[in-house]
Amino acid sequence: MNRPIAQVKYVGHKKAIKLSHLGIHTTRDLLYHFPRRYEDRRQLKPLNQLVPGETVTVRVMVVSWEQRELRPNLVLVRAEVSDGHHRGYALWFNQPYIKRRLPPGSLVLLTGKVSRRSIFPEIQVEEYELGDSEGSSLNTGYLVPFYPSTAGLTQQWFRKVVFQALSESLPFVEETLPLKWRERYRLVPLSKALKDIHFPADEEALRQARRRLIYEELLIWELALALHNHKRRMVAPGIAHSRDNTLVERFLRSLPFSLTKAQERVIQEIFADMEAPRPMARLLQGDVGSGKTIVAAAALLKAAAGGWQGALMVPTEVLAEQHFLTFKRLLAPLSLPIALLTGSTSRKDREKILLGLEDGYISIIIGTHALIQQDVNFKALGLAVIDEQHRFGVRQRAELSSKGFLPDLLVMTATPIPRTLALVAYGDLDVSLLDELPPGRKPVLTYVLSESQRQQAYRLIAREVLAGRQAYIVCPLIEESEVLEAAAATAKAQELQTKVFPGFRIGLLHGRMRPAEKEEIMERFRQGEIQILVSTTVIEVGVDIPNATVMMIEGAERYGLAQLHQLRGRVARSYYQAYCFLVTRNNDVEAKRRLKVLVENHDGFAIAEADLKLRGPGELFGTRQHGWPEFRLAEFPRDLKVLEQARKDAHFLISSGYLDQPEFAVLKALAESKIQQLKL
Ligand code: ADP
Ligand code: MG
Repeated sequence: MNRPIAQVKYVGHKKAIKLSHLGIHTTRDLLYHFPRRYEDRRQLKPLNQLVPGETVTVRVMVVSWEQRELRPNLVLVRAEVSDGHHRGYALWFNQPYIKRRLPPGSLVLLTGKVSRRSIFPEIQVEEYELGDSEGSSLNTGYLVPFYPSTAGLTQQWFRKVVFQALSESLPFVEETLPLKWRERYRLVPLSKALKDIHFPADEEALRQARRRLIYEELLIWELALALHNHKRRMVAPGIAHSRDNTLVERFLRSLPFSLTKAQERVIQEIFADMEAPRPMARLLQGDVGSGKTIVAAAALLKAAAGGWQGALMVPTEVLAEQHFLTFKRLLAPLSLPIALLTGSTSRKDREKILLGLEDGYISIIIGTHALIQQDVNFKALGLAVIDEQHRFGVRQRAELSSKGFLPDLLVMTATPIPRTLALVAYGDLDVSLLDELPPGRKPVLTYVLSESQRQQAYRLIAREVLAGRQAYIVCPLIEESEVLEAAAATAKAQELQTKVFPGFRIGLLHGRMRPAEKEEIMERFRQGEIQILVSTTVIEVGVDIPNATVMMIEGAERYGLAQLHQLRGRVARSYYQAYCFLVTRNNDVEAKRRLKVLVENHDGFAIAEADLKLRGPGELFGTRQHGWPEFRLAEFPRDLKVLEQARKDAHFLISSGYLDQPEFAVLKALAESKIQQLKL
């Protein structure tokens, strides 16, 4: 199974290089390179039953050939074919040599898409094969696999090589699950599953193969997480933070509001973890506006009060700056040294800060990715907090932690991934839930508008601004192009200033601005000097300006629901009634139906569940976001039940000691290499 792929028959050096681009280096890799789909080629239809648009396989005899040059460089060769009763045509483009390969009288299996321009069907041939022997071919007559591929590797070649690799290696496949275990869940042996996932005899065989392999995949994943946690807890004690909460209590009393029940409970959970000697690894989930920042501040303060350093890492500079200001304000009476470190911190300041971190003078540091750069060293990092965790990868989380010696870790997120999915994405974390908003918050009144109705939104914005409130107008998302996004936002701001709101003070914020400019704009918005902020999605996460009460989102159909909920969360931060306008193309019924979910729901979890159903987890997490583990076969939420079972089994195998018995040796080795691969 571990043989280099080049040693498999038909592969060779050149093809081996191509396979390596697909991550395939050994026979095992190839056998675990599963088909992306299957085509049912068992039914050979007569030619008179073909339906235009469908892809079919037919068995026919070539009757005659013709060739035409349609345009320069476009040659059509067309065979009249017969299935014995009915007539049809087979088309190839720019492959005149086919005529010689299939002289009249040849029996051939054709696969391709059906079209019909006359009374006879035409097949645009994608694959063909000489077909005088019934059914024994790899490319027809059964459920035919299609592989994720790359240039220069045809599907036919793939099938041949996988088949070859299977026949060479199946006798050496090491079973990962002992017989008893398989019997318990009625799972097929690994060798059978591997054969059937590539070349299933029928749907049932395919179903059983997938069932077996999905369970195995999830069991290995859960074992890796559990082993990792187990080690982390066994190997070394973490930090036991001081139980003395005098300073924290003084801080909490100084707040202009009292904590919600949920905040109190969550702080208790976190403090209990921090006081215990084992390293904390906790996820704090709380909907937008539920008040996570105060919780983080309390935890960081507790660490600092006991002489440890605390770090808070956030995904954007705008947010880092905001947290820094908040913390400075909140913690001022306690005179703790706090610093801000981002990519745009001046060199001189940066040097000072790095020194302060190294000699322990700075108690609390707030920053962006700048915090995990190589030359940042702490004297005694005791608590690492990551805000808007879904914007970071597992790796970055680990990098921040590694700045200390087993510091406690708190990650926070408002991307309300459904609780069940949290299990997948954050399987190695304990979870705390902030399931309560501060009192007096009214649901944001949300409206879906067509572009032609945007005046309604403008009228309300004018009314709110005149009443002393502020508004955000978010320009359409342009995936992968900050430049275009910035240009669109600039034009929009100009148009609004000159044509729509000439009397109001309009500000502009986009990702192409220098950090100092961004800071200045945010500050002026915070001060109320800017009344309407035209922005790209740089304000999506975390921004907290309670006086803003209107959020208008242009091109709303381009966003995921969870992201829109985040944006809307920017204006549900006070006692004032807030409004959200989702502007979308005229007559886009589909988009409007989807956006309706936001009109009717204000709970982030419900919205995320809906989004998940509509778009699947990959999309929910979005291309700009990380943190979603990759599985070969498992899919969520479809396979959640299996995941839960696998998790139970993993814990059982570890705590009972079975995992260390010889019959589980292969499984354990796979789990351990998974830990390596994940860089946990
Ligand atoms: P998020 O959970 O989205 O990060 P924030 O921590 O930014 O939320 O809090 C949102 C707003 O609510 C802030 O203006 C904050 O000061 C305020 N806030 C937090 N906790 C409370 C509370 N218990 N009572 C009233 N307001 C609160
Ligand atoms: Mg926040």
